[in-house]
Amino acid sequence: PAREDITYFGAGPALLPTDTLERAAQALVNFNGTGLGLAEHSHRSEIANTIINEAKADLATFLDIPDDYEILFMQGGGTGEFSATAYNLVGSWVANKQAEISSQNNSEQLLNDAVNNDLKLDYIVTGSWSAKAAAEAARLFGQDKVNIVADAKLSNNGKFGIIPDESTWKLSKNAALVYYCDNETVDGVEFAGFPKILAPGPDGKGPIVVADMSSNILSRKVDVKNFSVIFFGAQKNLGSAGITVVIIKKSLIAPVTKQPSAQTMRQLGLPIPPIILQYDTIAQNNSLYNTLSIFDVYIAGQVLKRALANFPDNVSGQEKLSKQKAELIYNALDSHPDAYRVVPDKSVRSRMNICFRVTKGGDIDAAEKDFLKQSTALGLTGLKGHRSVGGIRASNYNSITLEGAQKLAQFLVDFAKAS
Ligand code: PLP
Repeated sequence: PAREDITYFGAGPALLPTDTLERAAQALVNFNGTGLGLAEHSHRSEIANTIINEAKADLATFLDIPDDYEILFMQGGGTGEFSATAYNLVGSWVANKQAEISSQNNSEQLLNDAVNNDLKLDYIVTGSWSAKAAAEAARLFGQDKVNIVADAKLSNNGKFGIIPDESTWKLSKNAALVYYCDNETVDGVEFAGFPKILAPGPDGKGPIVVADMSSNILSRKVDVKNFSVIFFGAQKNLGSAGITVVIIKKSLIAPVTKQPSAQTMRQLGLPIPPIILQYDTIAQNNSLYNTLSIFDVYIAGQVLKRALANFPDNVSGQEKLSKQKAELIYNALDSHPDAYRVVPDKSVRSRMNICFRVTKGGDIDAAEKDFLKQSTALGLTGLKGHRSVGGIRASNYNSITLEGAQKLAQFLVDFAKAS
C-alpha cells in the first residue's frame, strides 16, 4: 500500500508526519546545501549545537518548562532511564546526606548508617513499564532498598487495569525518588493528573518525583515544577527512536549538587552509573559528551516546530485534540457493549493507548482475528495488542489525525453492527 492509504495505530515507534519525513530525507542527503547529510555532520559542529539548542528551546516553549530545569538528550531509551534515574537520584540522596552531616565528627559512620537504614527507592507499580523500572532498581540496589508504594496487580486480582487509591500508598520517608509511569503503554492505564499525595507542601518542598512519560508526553499540560525528573523516549510523540529526553531540576545536578565520588559510593557499597548515564556529565556538555544522533534531534525539532505552528496555545491545543480523538474511539466502544470490552477501569483509561477486547459472538480469539483482518483491509493497521496481554490496542499518539480517529471509530461501529 501507499503511505497515505495507511492509518497506523502501532504503540511505538509511531507514525511521523509525512512532510517532516520528507524534509528529513532531504536533510539526510544534503543538509542546507552543505553537501553533507545531517547524519554525516560532526556532533561538535555549529550546526549540531544550533539544532540541539533550538529543539531545547522549542520543547521548553511547547511544554512551558521553567528556567530552573535542564533538558538533556540521551541514548539508551526509556529502559536506559530506568537505570539512570535510580543511579543518579541515589547519588543525589547520598550527596545531600553527606552535606547534612558533614559537620559532625563521626560523619562517615553516620553516612554508612543512613545508607543502611534509611535509603529507599519508592515505586508505584501500575503496569508493565513501572514494574520493569522497579525490577531494575532492585537489580542495581537490592530488593531491600526498593519500596513498592502500591502494586496495581495485587489490588486487582493479578491484572493491571486500575490505579490503587492514594490513601493506600505506602511512601517511605525521604525516599531517594518516588517513581511512577504516567501512561502505561501496554496496559492502557493513564494517571488522570498529578497524584495529590505527591504534591509539594506550602514550603514548595515535596518528594523527589520521577515520571516516565514515554507514551503521553506532548499530549497534555504537565506542571513540570512538581517533578524532579521527567523522561521519555522520542519514538512515540516526539520523533524517531534513538534519543531519550530527560527534563531535570537543575538543583539535582552540578554545580548545585555534585554526585559523590566513585570512592565514596564504593565504600558505601553502592553502585555508580556508567558515565554515559550520569546526568551531570551530560548536562555539563550540553548533551554532547559523546556522539549523539543529531539527525534524530533534528526530526524531534521539526516535530516541535510543526506542533508550535499548529497549536497557538501550545500543548493545551494538542491536549484538546488528544481528548477529542480518544473520546471518539471510547464512545464507539462503549456504545457497543455486546461487541467490545475496554480492558482498564474507566477511571484510568489512557487517552494514548486504547486497550480493548473484541467479544462479539463470544469467541474472543476468532472475533479479534476477524477484527484485525477487516481493519487491516481498510488501512487501519498496528492494532494488535502487546504480545504479553493480547487483545487490541489502538495507540492514539499525536500523529493520528482527527480523521484517522474518526475512521477507526466508524470501523468500530460498522464491525459491531455487521451480522
Ligand atoms: N516506558 C514506556 C512507558 C514505554 O512505553 C516504553 C516502550 O515502549 C519504555 C519505557 C521503554 O522504552 P525504550 O524501548 O525506549 O527503552
